[in-house]
Amino acid sequence: MLIDSHLHLVQYNDQQITQIISNPNIAGVIAVSTDFQSLLRLEQLQQQFPKIHICAGFHPEQPLPTQVEKAQLFNWIAKNHAKLTAIGEVGLPHYLKRENPNLDYQAYIDLLEEFMLISKRFDLPLNLHIVYDDTQIALDLLTKHQIQKAHFHWFKASDEMLQKVLATNYLVSITSDILVNPKTQRVAELFPLERIMIETDGPWQHDGFDICDIEGQLNAVIGKIAEIKKTSIQQVIFQTDLNAQQLYLLK
Ligand SMILES: [Zn+2]
Repeated sequence: MLIDSHLHLVQYNDQQITQIISNPNIAGVIAVSTDFQSLLRLEQLQQQFPKIHICAGFHPEQPLPTQVEKAQLFNWIAKNHAKLTAIGEVGLPHYLKRENPNLDYQAYIDLLEEFMLISKRFDLPLNLHIVYDDTQIALDLLTKHQIQKAHFHWFKASDEMLQKVLATNYLVSITSDILVNPKTQRVAELFPLERIMIETDGPWQHDGFDICDIEGQLNAVIGKIAEIKKTSIQQVIFQTDLNAQQLYLLK
């Protein structure tokens, strides 16, 4: 059985969502939200499909939320945290900063810190969008607040940063870009299988894949991890599935 540990389910149309969720080989999906509206849509979908595990967050690669939207989101979390599997997608806007070096980064760091505090308050794992040098900022905040459960999705960083995350107990996840991207292959080389999960970040368009073919993408990731780790496909499926179940307390 396969678990997609990071998916933007509401960015698919209804027919595609049904197709993805009705695949019996997909045991569950960790469905992240990007803003308050997408969270409300996930809440609806979850009532229909129990194998959707929902996360509340605000995607960092966009303008900051208004005060009203931020209040709606945090109030919803405080009231409905029992429906949540995690806080996510949250993190820092690495790619936005590349385009706009004058971006007010501190405001994004402050927002991330607030998400960390609420994740801790309700004992929810963090599904993080953190890459490259932002890793240091995130690790400092995670340490400051003694956060136990965090997941760096589609993680890429320098070896120095990879080593710093390795020295923690946090998990990482890998998309099918492992087939072509040496930086992602490096993550699979360095992290023990007990710290790795698989994901699609769908509907991200990965070369050579249908955006709805979650099973095909996850199997490709598994095959490549097995090759890098010199272990069996069965072992990779078993361990990555177990890792997701344990971090996200899936039933
Ligand atoms: Zn994402």
